[in-house]
Amino acid sequence: MIPLHYDLHLHSCLSPCGDNESTPGNIVGMAFIKQLDVIALTDHNTCKNCKAAMAIGEQYGVTVIPGMELTTAEEVHVVCLFHNLEDAMAFDAYVEKRILPIPNNPKAFGDQFICDENDEVVGTFPTLLISATDISFDKVDSVLKEFNGVMIPAHIDKNSFSLTSNLGFVPPGSTFKCFELADMSNLHRLQNENPYLKTCNVITDSDAHYIEKINEAVNTLYARSNTIDDVLNALTDNSTLKSV
Ligand SMILES: [Zn+2]
Ligand SMILES: [Zn+2]
Repeated sequence: MIPLHYDLHLHSCLSPCGDNESTPGNIVGMAFIKQLDVIALTDHNTCKNCKAAMAIGEQYGVTVIPGMELTTAEEVHVVCLFHNLEDAMAFDAYVEKRILPIPNNPKAFGDQFICDENDEVVGTFPTLLISATDISFDKVDSVLKEFNGVMIPAHIDKNSFSLTSNLGFVPPGSTFKCFELADMSNLHRLQNENPYLKTCNVITDSDAHYIEKINEAVNTLYARSNTIDDVLNALTDNSTLKSV
């Protein structure tokens, strides 16, 4: 196993709340400067900037996992990570049909810019991406399995848009194997309140909407290699429980 510095929850200029300077190229470039080994691009309810970020990641030697921060019907945020762009874009198409059809108002919510591999803005996404979808939390893991995706309930220690704030508890029958905390110091309290969490791996990410907020190389996971497959396997391998 090798140590990998990670930040697996990042927003680009495609998220309405993401800074317009957070282009895929600027995100990957900042990750490279900060000496991160692996990042994930997780815009709200979309994977449409992942192709550009992955291509630029190859140039920099930074592993870029294609992902999405899904908003469930209950407005719980879930980081969804994929083994390859094809699976991610198939899930993107699935989710696009299930977002509330509210047009984005860029003046109120921010722009939603789609970029190409040259980091040029090539389009805008018309539907507001931070709305809820009609996918309920208890369906997320089974739906994701159809796309070989990994489910990571996001920032579950936050007071909004989280599993513990919006549902109040970890639902019986949960099958996710990894969760995310905004602040690792909340780990033991949450595990004591929700014993299921003791069976999971835990990560912490920046949830950066501005490139300067991307984490320094302070969080480490251990995987066989820096490939996407090995990183996702490390996140879902509960044979040795750990903060990955
Ligand atoms: Zn969130
Ligand atoms: Zn986020």
